[in-house]
Amino acid sequence: MIIQYVVGTTSEQREEVHAKLKSWGLRVAENPGDVGTSPQDRIYVDNVFGNVKDAHRREVSTLECVKKVIPIEGVPQNLSLKRRGRHHTVSLPLPGGKGSVDIGGGNPLVVMAGVCAVDREHTLASHQMARRAGADMNRGGAYKPRTSPYDFQGLKEEGLKILCDARREVGLPVVSEVLDVRDVELFMKYDVDMLQIGTRNAQNFELLIEAGRTGKPVLYKRGFSNSIDESLKAANYVMEQGNDNLIFCLRGVKGIGHSFRNQGDLDEIVALSHLIDRPIVYDVSHSAGKKAAVGEIGNMACAGGVDGLLVDVHVSPSDALVDGFQAIDKEDELREIIQTWRSLSQLVKAKVKEYGRRQAAN
Ligand code: PEP
Ligand code: MN
Repeated sequence: MIIQYVVGTTSEQREEVHAKLKSWGLRVAENPGDVGTSPQDRIYVDNVFGNVKDAHRREVSTLECVKKVIPIEGVPQNLSLKRRGRHHTVSLPLPGGKGSVDIGGGNPLVVMAGVCAVDREHTLASHQMARRAGADMNRGGAYKPRTSPYDFQGLKEEGLKILCDARREVGLPVVSEVLDVRDVELFMKYDVDMLQIGTRNAQNFELLIEAGRTGKPVLYKRGFSNSIDESLKAANYVMEQGNDNLIFCLRGVKGIGHSFRNQGDLDEIVALSHLIDRPIVYDVSHSAGKKAAVGEIGNMACAGGVDGLLVDVHVSPSDALVDGFQAIDKEDELREIIQTWRSLSQLVKAKVKEYGRRQAAN
């Protein structure tokens, strides 16, 4: 809830309210108020987080110094564009410590390209190919969430080691999916640059909390049957741990369409970029599920103003352990696709900025 105080409320009165809120287990984010005015004329407002009950709201609203209690609805405050007024950048240091990959905040498009599942034979070559073709990061799954228990489940710790050894040679940060709270520590041991929460774990709140606690950037994938509202609330579990490095990933949903592996949710790029300040990325390969459609679906995402794209690559798709059918295998083809994405993205981001400036001027 948001508490608005009557003009002239003293800091002692506010502290009393804060003590009460804290005794209920709630957290208070104090707002400095309209700092242009003198303290006695200031309108103070506090944001209150946690399990706010109706009884809390009722009791607070009866206090003499409280003018209004406003329930927080819609986009969680932590992610809200309205709250900060500009898009946030998540930065990942490049291996070796020189420079960074910056996602969101109007920065150029970030391409995360790599194998769907880490393998022993082709991961390094695939990730080197992705870099030569223009990728900024590598993706690679060591733990794979599979529909059937008989399917390959990932190389697990060995996969993390291969991925992170390859990182040293390739020189790009890596993102990898963590499936279970018990594995989070292992991801820290290998210093995986970004933790991915997959669509099947989109409401695994314990996992979101543990991933959030690491402080590492977290790539949160929308659940394929979750509404945007449910997804934003779940993603907020990461930020509630004091982790600012949340990246929101769309990847298509279960729908009535049959043309692609998933029904694209590209229009949500536009909706979300008006609502949240976190970087928004799109997993083109898992949305399209067809190698031949990856370039064009990525074009659509860039036209919508996306901050980054995930794409599966593999130098020998017929040997890929998972999803070889959707992986780009030719360096020249990937380079051309990425170049088109970058030009589109540049054009659209420049327009968004121009539009933003015009709006600000009006
Ligand atoms: C993946 O990125 O390898 C993956 C399994 O994605 P999703 O959770 O979106 O299906
Ligand atoms: Mn896959």
